[in-house]
Parts: sequence; structure tokens; C-alpha cells
Amino acid sequence: MAFSFKDRPNIIASLKKDYFDIIVIGGGITGAGIALDAASRGLKVALIEKGDFASGTSSKSTKLIHGGLRYLKQFDFKLVREVGKERATVHKLAPHLVRPEKMLLPLIKDGNYGKIITSVGLMVYDVLADVEVQDQRKMLTKEETLACEPLLKPDHVEGGGLYAEYQVDDARLVIEVIKAAHDFDARCINYTKAVDLIYKGGKVSGVKCEEHFSNESFEIYGDHVINASGPWVDEIRLQNKSLNEKRLHLTKGVHIVVDKAKLPIKQSVYFDVSDGRMIFAIPRVKTTYIGTTDTEYSANKDDIRATKADVNYLIDAVNDMFPFSDISKDDVQSSWAGVRPLIHEEGKSASEISRKDEIFEAENGLISMAGGKLTGYRKMAQKAVYLVAKRIHDKTGKSIKPSRTKRIMLPGNGFKDYKDVLKYKEKYEPKFEAKDHYKISRLIDKYGSQFEAIYKMYESFDSSDENSLIRAELKFCLENEMISSLLDFYERRTGRLYFEIESITTSMEVIAADMGEFLNWPIDDKKEQIRCLKDAIVLATTFE
Ligand code: FAD
Repeated sequence: MAFSFKDRPNIIASLKKDYFDIIVIGGGITGAGIALDAASRGLKVALIEKGDFASGTSSKSTKLIHGGLRYLKQFDFKLVREVGKERATVHKLAPHLVRPEKMLLPLIKDGNYGKIITSVGLMVYDVLADVEVQDQRKMLTKEETLACEPLLKPDHVEGGGLYAEYQVDDARLVIEVIKAAHDFDARCINYTKAVDLIYKGGKVSGVKCEEHFSNESFEIYGDHVINASGPWVDEIRLQNKSLNEKRLHLTKGVHIVVDKAKLPIKQSVYFDVSDGRMIFAIPRVKTTYIGTTDTEYSANKDDIRATKADVNYLIDAVNDMFPFSDISKDDVQSSWAGVRPLIHEEGKSASEISRKDEIFEAENGLISMAGGKLTGYRKMAQKAVYLVAKRIHDKTGKSIKPSRTKRIMLPGNGFKDYKDVLKYKEKYEPKFEAKDHYKISRLIDKYGSQFEAIYKMYESFDSSDENSLIRAELKFCLENEMISSLLDFYERRTGRLYFEIESITTSMEVIAADMGEFLNWPIDDKKEQIRCLKDAIVLATTFE
């Protein structure tokens, strides 16, 4: 079965008719990881997502697969070790998508990190996270730090540490994991909301859901239901009457994007803010993005906005650390805001709460999973599926195969390693004009060796069409990535809303026409789609 909007009727028919071992609620990274782990172990899996895949927190992160240096400050060595090792695994699974990125930690007067603490801390980090020798931390003098990043405030900096992290396209990681699960016969569908749980003999035995496009309600039946709905986890626990004192604590995180010319840093920097927090400035494509804030959140989870205060906080922090930048609110090209589904810890503030994942098991069988990080999704999935495998074994004596996701390469990984990705880029870039090389590099970062299919489609377009590359990308997403709206394409599959916002204006009409043709949109639908996209641009660029 392919994974396009046109295959929805088949997927829905299967969801209605088949009986599943596991029904997953939520198509963020947690749910996607669980679906892949379970399906690849031979279990029959259904996954439903109320919006688009990754439309929750999993498209709003700092977009790092990281070892969690900050956990070292909380002396959480176990977590540093686990996520540190895991990031190397996730890099191997998709080296084009999870890309090495050196991070500079400038040491400043009265900052969070002193020279000795940083040197020892980063060394411990290298050991705990099994960092390969060439990537291990390097301590820098003041001069070396300023040579590494000349835009830093010279009279502030006392030295620095350079260490290894990985960049990722978070929403693309989710869709690739979903596609991999689909290849193992998991039935994954977006725009389908779990509205109620179904019980049999006092046990959760299914989910009642509503599909957005047909407005149809239907029921999915199965032995185990896993609630992986991120910030919405407690809503489903409440519905299930199993919400207890262990509950979520939501904190909001905002990122802003500016043109690279406004903050032309040479590399990623993790720096001090005057209130004692740390934030990132990360170059990507022709932009630099900055984040994140960390504030309590209790408002509407379906409408999370970056406020003026959030944006000013980030601008002040960046202007303080990079005095030549002089960024103002008008320079913000785009932004995103998301909430962390953390596990509440009494008496702890937003920044102090652990990012650990946790499973809540209700007496009626509902399994809920929250907390954690994008980085640890594979391990989180193993834990959840282990629990189901144990239940199956206890009940039937049947053994479920162990997890194999450490060896399941994600779609688009046709590479031996990261060097191979760079060679692949060198093969394709000469086929395009030099001014477009960055576009090819970006496409290969996003799709890996799936770019081959995009290239073939590109060749089938008229070469004088200036939108042929983006149209080829759209065709690939339409046929393989279950998109059904302009925002699915511009925001979550391609990240253009954040990092190539200018490409939207020049391509929007032609993309809407191609998409409309594929999806049979009546003229009003096309207009509505363009309106929604324009609204999203306004939301990403204006702040109240
Ligand atoms: P979500 O991604 O929110 O997925 C839950 C899904 O469930 C949603 O898509 C939602 O629509 C769906 N859903 C809800 N209710 C229903 C229903 N009734 N029916 C069907 N579907 C439903 N981690 C890192 O590793 N690296 C980082 O750099 C990083 N940076 C971060 C920065 C910020 C600002 C934030 C907020 C988080 C960051 N994280 C990072 C953490 C990471 O993003 C999250 O831990 C992770 O994305 C949570 O994924 P999830 O699948 O649990 O939740």
C-alpha cells in the first residue's frame, strides 16, 4: 500500500475491519517511534493523529539531536549517558537528516559555566556519551573562541568549549519514522482524532475516532491502547478516569528566525542569558534561528503563539551576546512556538523540571507515555512496546521478537555514513547552476537518497519553469508522504515556513494548482488553502 492521500480509503477500511495488537493515539515522534518498534517486531499496529503528523511539539523543537549537556548541570548522569549514546545511533539511522554540528559554548565572566567546570563537564559528557575521538571536546582560549566566532562580545568572553551535537529536521524525522512503520504494515493515518475510548469487561479495548475529511466516526479495536498524545496526554487520561497526582507540566518554548545577514554567525553557539538560562543560535540555510524560551503554559494547546515578550527576550539575549547584530522585531522572518509535555515535579520551575520520559499504566490497561526528548524516541518506543510484549507473554505465553529499530535504516538512508552524504551532494550539485546548489544540498538533507526520485520528477518538468524543483518536491510528498494541505507541505514536510519563507510567495499559486489537481480541490478549497497558508505566515511573523 502506498502512502498518499489517495490511499486513505484503503487505510481507513483496514482500521475499521482489522483487529490490532496496539492502537497508538498521537503521531508525534513518541507515537511514530512506538508504531515502528511494534510493527517491526511483528505486531499489528494502528496509529491515529488528529492533525498532521508532527503537528504538535515534534515540529516545534530546537531541532537538535543532542546529548543533553544541560542534564549534566542537574547531575542526571544516567540521562546524559542514555541520550548521548542514542544520538549516535539516530545519526546512523539517517545520516542525511541527523547531521553533525559543532557547538561553541563561550565562557563568559560570571556565566553559567566556568572554565574548569566546562572542561571537566564536557569531558564527562564525551565519556558518558561515547563520543568518537575526532568529535571530542576541545577547550579554547579567548583568542581561539573569538576566531571561531568573531561576532561574540570580545570583552565578555574568557574562553570557550567546542563540542559535538547533531542538527535535525524534527518533523521530517517523524514522517520518515511513520513511513518506515507503514513499510512494516502499520496502519498510520493523520487528520483522525481519538474522541473516546472503548471498553470491554472494564478494559480498554479500542478507540472511537473521527476522520476530518469525511466527518465520519468509526471504531478501531485492539488489545492495547497507547496514549502518545504529547501535551494532550492528560486529556485522554482524564477521559479514561485515570488522571492522578502524576501529571503533565507544560512549558512553552519559542524560537525566532532572522536572515543570516542579520546574524552571520559562522557556527552554532550555546550561550548564557543574563537570567541564568542558556539559549542556542544556530545557522540554517540562509537564516539563523535562536531559541528557546521556557515559560509555564496553561492556555490553548491548539493555538500556541509567540508573544512580543517571548520575542523581545530572545532578541535582547542575542543582542547582548552578539553586540554587532542589533536585531529588532522587524528582522524576525519567522518563528515557532511549542509546549514541552514534561512530567510535573513538585516545587520545580519550568527550567528545572527533568526531561525524563515516563509511562503511566491505568488499571483498565491504558498505557500513557510522556516526557522525554526527540533524541530518545527510539528508546522510549522500546520501553512502551516492551510493556506490551510482557503483557502478551504473561497472558498467552507468546514471546514477541526483541526490538530491531537500532538496525532499521530510515527511508532515504542510502548511505554508508555522513561522508557518503557529502559525496552524494557533490554528484548532484554540478547538474544545477551554482546559485541553486544550496537548494540541492537542502533537499538532500531533507530526503537523503529519496532525492533521486525528486530529481527524476524534476527532469520531467520544463527546464525553463523556475518552480520545477519545488514542484518535483511537492509531487514526491503527494505520492509518498500523505500530505493534504499547503501547510502540511510548506511547514512540516519542507520546513519552508521557517527557513525559506521567501520561497512561499514565489511558488504558492503554482503549488496550490498542482496540489489541487492531485487532490481534486474545487476552486473554493484552493482559495481556502491559500488563505490558511497566509494566516500561518502572519502568525509566524507578528507578535502581540
Ligand atoms: P507531540 O509531538 O506533541 O505529539 C503528540 C501528538 O498527538 C500531536 O501531534 C497531537 O496532535 C496528537 N494528538 C493529541 N490528541 C489526540 C487525539 N485525541 N487523537 C489523535 N491525536 C492526538 N527534544 C530534542 O531531542 N531536541 C531538541 O532540540 C528539543 N528541543 C525542544 C524545544 C522546545 C521548545 C520544545 C517544546 C521541545 C523540545 N524538545 C527537544 C522535546 C521534544 O520536542 C518533545 O519531547 C517531543 O517532540 C514530544 O513528542 P510527542 O510525540 O510526545 O508529542
